[in-house]
Amino acid sequence: MMDEVESDILILGAGGAGLLAALHALQISKKLKIAIAVKGLLGQSGCTRMVQGGYNAVLHPNDSLDRHFADTIKGGAWLNHQELAWKLVEDAPRRIVELENRAGCLFDRNPDGTIHQKPFAGQSFDRTVHRADLTGIEIMSNLRDAILESDIQVLQECRGVELIEADGRIAGALLAEIRTGRLIAARAKATLVATGGGATMYRISSPSLEKSGDGMAMAWRAGASFVDMEMLQFHPTGLLVGDSMATGGLLEEGLRGAGARLYNGLGERFMERYDPQRLERATRDVVSRASFFEIAAGRGTPSNGVYIDATHLGVGFLMENFPGMVERCADHGFDLVHDRVEVSPSAHYQMGGVRIDVDCRTDLEGLFAAGEDAGGVHGANRLGGNGVADSIVYGGRAGDAMADYVLDRPIAKPAVDTERWRSPRRETGDSPFALRKELEDLMWEKAGIVRSHDGLSSALAELTALAERAESARIDSLPAWNAALDLSNLIEVGQMLARCALLRTESRGAHFREDFPQSDPAWLKNIVVKRDGDPQFDPVQFTRLAPPQTP
Ligand SMILES: Cc1cc2nc3c(=O)[nH]c(=O)nc-3n(C[C@H](O)[C@H](O)[C@H](O)COP(=O)(O)OP(=O)(O)OC[C@H]3O[C@@H](n4cnc5c(N)ncnc54)[C@H](O)[C@@H]3O)c2cc1C
Repeated sequence: MMDEVESDILILGAGGAGLLAALHALQISKKLKIAIAVKGLLGQSGCTRMVQGGYNAVLHPNDSLDRHFADTIKGGAWLNHQELAWKLVEDAPRRIVELENRAGCLFDRNPDGTIHQKPFAGQSFDRTVHRADLTGIEIMSNLRDAILESDIQVLQECRGVELIEADGRIAGALLAEIRTGRLIAARAKATLVATGGGATMYRISSPSLEKSGDGMAMAWRAGASFVDMEMLQFHPTGLLVGDSMATGGLLEEGLRGAGARLYNGLGERFMERYDPQRLERATRDVVSRASFFEIAAGRGTPSNGVYIDATHLGVGFLMENFPGMVERCADHGFDLVHDRVEVSPSAHYQMGGVRIDVDCRTDLEGLFAAGEDAGGVHGANRLGGNGVADSIVYGGRAGDAMADYVLDRPIAKPAVDTERWRSPRRETGDSPFALRKELEDLMWEKAGIVRSHDGLSSALAELTALAERAESARIDSLPAWNAALDLSNLIEVGQMLARCALLRTESRGAHFREDFPQSDPAWLKNIVVKRDGDPQFDPVQFTRLAPPQTP
């Protein structure tokens, strides 16, 4: 007999989106039964905890929602779903108040007691709220405490494996305990995927390693629609630490916001060539691509990166404002205060994801998505500081919407096919760990920062072959089983990404095609895909702001 869990609301993932969803739903009704399944540990897993720089919100009287909105849309190269982007900027300030007053977070202050806001790239006003350069720890520690004080059931080190369907709607998920392989049928009236994206499919990446696109892959298999899956962001300043797992870990954007400069291996401040006005404060897509071109042209550093130089900002300033970055560099033998540090673009964040409406409903009844699992908010490029704002805003909105959805709704009791998912024992086949490495290399080389028809076609053929080998990978231990599940999910998300990248025959935001290097106004369209059916090309609806001219 399989173990079972029953709740009104099931939440997969415990980052900012998952936890805000749980707390908001509970606020609406204390009677709701809420269960959270998290692959890692509560409060310790996912990327929200890793947030360094901060959270964008309009708080200053000289700033405005319209400005934040316009920055977000321009940063997103006009591809954003404008109503989703508007809700982001509209709700962001009140969620900051909520994080402080309800959850007990405390953000940095100006001498007059108002919240301090720092500059981030792509902003027309300094609006990034932060706690020094370790903002995520402040947010997640307090959210975790709030969850622990509640009756919410938390299943830790327990991964969502597959969504369960019944009576034409999503009715929960099959879960697996990572350390034992025990399967659990979690039945629910509403299910939220908030497991974060799959940027870890690249050779150099910044997210926490347990994130493997699981929520997206589950939603894909269940038949949900996805939007703009080709849009994956590379952060310009990932550390280079050889074969260490620390490679790809970030030096936060606030450093460039504060004036840190980038140099190539020849000592040239190369951003003068690519964006002479904004220089290092250009958006992430522009800076990452510039670094990539410098490295590809043989003007990189000894470790195949570029240098970030913050020395002119001074010891006092760096120690006061970026203690975490200074310490992170020191941990690996680098001296951010007195020396240049080698960095590389690092795969960071998926702008594409499950298609949602402003209340996080997907087009599958009973299934909701929020945070990085959802697409459309950021268009072709996410502004720094808008990511954690997204997970907090849309997590909250999902919680509100799910609490409403489950009211007076009966729970379905579907039969669950466990045999298909029970950990197999296979002594032959490729190691899933080695296959993962192959995946990372092929995505980096053929579907990375600079793409082409030939590269993407070849990536797709290799992904198909890799998927077949993954199906029969060697599974001789529980870690190997988990690695194989991660691998299959990443391949599925990688296939969506490469397919959509092949379809978009232009360059826009984070998506750069060397065979179509210009943006094409005819491509102001969202690519919508789902497992069954042909891709759809939906013209962007400029419901609030139209491009001034051809962008
Ligand atoms: C190093 C770093 C720095 C960043 N700095 C900033 C910043 O300064 N400002 C900003 O706006 N954004 C920043 N971001 C981006 C930001 O972290 C994300 O946009 C946001 O936190 C995503 O929140 P989320 O809730 O969607 O996912 P996450 O916070 O990533 O949480 C995902 C959760 O899902 C769980 N999970 C994964 N798979 C499963 C599964 N199968 N079943 C159950 N649970 C699962 C994970 O364990 C985790 O708990 C940064 C990201 C990184 C990596």
